[in-house]
Amino acid sequence: MRILVVEDEPRIASLLQRGLGEEGHSVVVAGTLYEGRRALAEPVDLLIADRTLPDGDGLDLVRSLRSAGDRVPAIVLTARDRVDERVEGLYGGADDYVTKPFAFDELLARIAAVTRRSGASGGRIEVGDLVLDTEALRVYRGGDELSLTPQELRLLRYLAENHGKVLSRTRILGAVWDTQHDPGTNLINVYISYLRAKVDKGREPLIHTVRGLGYVLEDRG
Ligand code: CA
Repeated sequence: MRILVVEDEPRIASLLQRGLGEEGHSVVVAGTLYEGRRALAEPVDLLIADRTLPDGDGLDLVRSLRSAGDRVPAIVLTARDRVDERVEGLYGGADDYVTKPFAFDELLARIAAVTRRSGASGGRIEVGDLVLDTEALRVYRGGDELSLTPQELRLLRYLAENHGKVLSRTRILGAVWDTQHDPGTNLINVYISYLRAKVDKGREPLIHTVRGLGYVLEDRG
């Protein structure tokens, strides 16, 4: 999995980077809320955010994701073991919280639980006979390996991670493209047509257009 750790304490940040790296994850570390927001321009499979950052509360990252409809699993780290703040953490859309200091094994167990719930664990997403190996970055349809460009892969992965949900063009653009200069939502239509040519051509379609709303990846077979 690609994991974003937003934590300003160097000791904890490096423990998580090393420990989660040894578990086979790719770990991106951000030391501030600002860096965390920037890092989230790239899709992640899991967010781990500290609540006391130099420029704010890591829970704000979770709140922003949730208000944008992003269900990426999120664990909040807090040194403040008070019931009201724990409740606030869960209301903010976090899937779980871990109170510092914590044992690394406990964090691993929490990660396994929240990613299992979201279906993102194991580095493998299956929709019908489409298989995305998110560790090896390879895609198979009906056992045949598909050759995708990096941008096509990111788009397909975003659709697959949200399979069954209708995604608007604007939302896809925000999640999959660097939108510092707005390339326009027509770009999505173009890339969807590229993906369809590779993923769906000659097969039962998995990528569906929902008129006026956007796209959904779904096995309707
Ligand atoms: Ca902190």
